[in-house]
Amino acid sequence: MKEQIETNIDYNNHFNRGTKMKKKEFFSKVIVFVLLCFVLFSLLYIQRKNYIEDSKDSMKIYVIGGSTLQEYGGVISCGYVITTKNNELIVVDGGIDADKLFLEEYIKRLGNGTVSHWYITHPHQDHVGALIQILEDDNCDITIENLYYSFNSLEWYKEYDKRGFETEEKMLSLLDSKKIKNKISCEKNQEIYMDNVKCDILKIADSEMINTDNGNDSSMCFKMTATDVNKSIIFLGDAYYYSSIELLKNPQKLKADVVQMAHHGQNGVSKDVYIAIAPEICCFNCPAWLYNNNPGSGYNTGRWQSIEVQSWVQEFRAQSVLSFLGDRIIKFNQNGIEIEA
Ligand SMILES: [Zn+2]
Repeated sequence: MKEQIETNIDYNNHFNRGTKMKKKEFFSKVIVFVLLCFVLFSLLYIQRKNYIEDSKDSMKIYVIGGSTLQEYGGVISCGYVITTKNNELIVVDGGIDADKLFLEEYIKRLGNGTVSHWYITHPHQDHVGALIQILEDDNCDITIENLYYSFNSLEWYKEYDKRGFETEEKMLSLLDSKKIKNKISCEKNQEIYMDNVKCDILKIADSEMINTDNGNDSSMCFKMTATDVNKSIIFLGDAYYYSSIELLKNPQKLKADVVQMAHHGQNGVSKDVYIAIAPEICCFNCPAWLYNNNPGSGYNTGRWQSIEVQSWVQEFRAQSVLSFLGDRIIKFNQNGIEIEA
């Protein structure tokens, strides 16, 4: 009887041990399973995060047609709105006074009314007209955090650029506007960092330069590079003969993927400057009549150099973006460069 009881006790112990072992094994398996799930979900999360980061555009360049579109009279104008990877807003020039509403809409939509960085190539009506309108309008609620420019003195403009003087005088006096938080008179070779975008100042206004197309040739030229994808756009304003000589002193600095064609795509910088840039995309900020060199008497019957400049673009096998066809977006991202209507 005693033996039987002891046997039963042993059996029970053995049974209990077996159950404990199974429970232990079961819990170990659950822990391993949970750990594996955790590792798997972490990997998926990291992969997705990287995918979202990579699919963000490093730089979006809006080439603005604005008033150059036919329905607004086909006038000459130059303006760009740019967003960085983390949505800092950059404006280059902005266009004529009639472009104010286009520009305001862009600034409110993309920058919530704040422009982080505004660059002026030169103070002519077709480049700063809209900016002047914004600065003069007390009801226009736009803030410019940093304004970058390179101007000659008012006396210089009065003496050497009479045709542009009225606008130049207005622009220079508006530098004191309360809408502008910080003014930066740029230096040659200055480097400006804006989020993931670096701006290299290549040429500034030069008061010694008085025997050329003075107002246009005083254009500040600069290159903006999305440093994370190493793609760039060069802005030439209305640079001309003198600027070409200046720029070609450092041709290696000119290489860029996209170029704003100097002086609206005709009678601007020399072919050698474009050869040094070696662009993939050429932006023509001009109306159709100027692009076609057509003053009203037919294709290529005018006095402009447009068709010759376009033959250079063909030689480079570059693609053209024409502002008179409407606003275009040039995107720099991990895939390279994309153009969107
Ligand atoms: Zn111009």
